[in-house]
Amino acid sequence: MALLTSSANLPKRSRALCDTEPMQSPLQAPTAATDPKSVKVNLTAGTGVDIEWADGHVSHYSFVYLRNACPCAMCNEERDKAGRKPGEPPKPAPGALPMFKPAAKPVSAEGMGKYAIRFKWNDDHDLGIYSWKFLREVCPCEECKAAQRGTVG
Ligand SMILES: [Zn+2]
Ligand SMILES: [Zn+2]
Repeated sequence: MALLTSSANLPKRSRALCDTEPMQSPLQAPTAATDPKSVKVNLTAGTGVDIEWADGHVSHYSFVYLRNACPCAMCNEERDKAGRKPGEPPKPAPGALPMFKPAAKPVSAEGMGKYAIRFKWNDDHDLGIYSWKFLREVCPCEECKAAQRGTVG
């Protein structure tokens, strides 16, 4: 299997790890579908994250969607209990008034090595590490949603 060679279009990646290849589990090895060509985090505009993938696919995620898709153990468990898919907003309890919360927005975002991005959210939550692979899996575009529906079951 050929390794991807680097190109001038790779996203800005943290160089904090100097020259040694960061340890990467085989699960995180990027393929064209999980290797972003460019990543834009529109923190100031608040419009979300845009990723262009090496295979040409383009994904857009709103911050609220990403918050609801938080892949940390705590949020995973919460979603499991409620039967929600990553990115699905929590359902209010029947009869309960909706709680007014400010829309989820990251206060900061940082790259985690070559394979992931981590957000610190305005509700102080910062446990979720969003790998590119995960982000591609939860791409909310019509095409990917249709494909996800097609493979379920
Ligand atoms: Zn979380
Ligand atoms: Zn998509």
